Amino acid sequence: MKKLDIDARGKINLTLDVLFKRLDGYHEVEMIMQTIALKDIISIELLSRRDIVLNTNCKKLPQDESNLAYQAAELMMKEYELDAGVSIDIHKNIPLAAGLAGGSSDAAAVIIGINELFELKIPKDELMTLGERIGADVPFCILGKTAFARGIGEQLTPLKSLSGLSILLVKPPYCISTKEVYNRLDVKNIKIRPDTKAMIDYIEHQDIDKIASGLCNVLEEVTIRLYPELGDIKKRMLEKGALGSVMSGSGPSVFGIFENIRDAKRAADDFAGTDNWIFVTKTE
Ligand code: ATP
Repeated sequence: MKKLDIDARGKINLTLDVLFKRLDGYHEVEMIMQTIALKDIISIELLSRRDIVLNTNCKKLPQDESNLAYQAAELMMKEYELDAGVSIDIHKNIPLAAGLAGGSSDAAAVIIGINELFELKIPKDELMTLGERIGADVPFCILGKTAFARGIGEQLTPLKSLSGLSILLVKPPYCISTKEVYNRLDVKNIKIRPDTKAMIDYIEHQDIDKIASGLCNVLEEVTIRLYPELGDIKKRMLEKGALGSVMSGSGPSVFGIFENIRDAKRAADDFAGTDNWIFVTKTE
């Protein structure tokens, strides 16, 4: 039977701004999103019967219809009236509910994988529109690299690719619910907002120092109030040589941009021995 391995890469947010709460309950956002090399591996195998079988190395991950990878497979099978099925194996490396889009990225990989496996030849923009039905971050995970996102995150403009930056990720040993963070956000009283336009300009000029100093996420206000140690992690990253540091998505992962991989590894050593998850990676 035909089989494919697809990389499902995580993302970080270089900026995250929330403009207002929409009538449909979603928040209108502006974000600059960036793919990182940290990835899950999704193996997809064709099944002769119309079925979806899901396996994973991660015990905490749901293995039923609530898994975003499962939902993506179901959507593809329905939408394109496929009369065969798939067996999906998720090798999880991206921590769960960490603000790194692990679930969205798995769903994106399944959409891309089924398109290839069944030789559907669906164009990327159509796959991205379809992915939106699974989650707001799925279209970006299909597109990848560096992009400006608006709407609920689904309206994407590719930016000049910011690949090869050295990144240190630190995630405390708990998960944060995206929904709870947005519920606690007082949109009308946000104190510090990113200068998204300026950031797009810095990216266009690949000005790493300015990019690092422009990192900003309005959700930090909420999460640092709940978990003050996130502020300590940022501070420690900066003390250990990060050019800039910020929380990704709705957290709790915090990342720092470093001059080079050696500096990022040295800072990582400083976090060793804590109960945080620590990972050195690069932007893609
Ligand atoms: P984002 O950055 O897009 O807000 P996140 O990194 O904070 O996402 P995820 O890791 O995508 O969050 O997971 C959020 C929830 O989705 C988890 O609690 C998990 O139970 C559920 N989930 C469903 N399918 C998956 C999957 N394939 N991988 C990870 N989580 C999944």
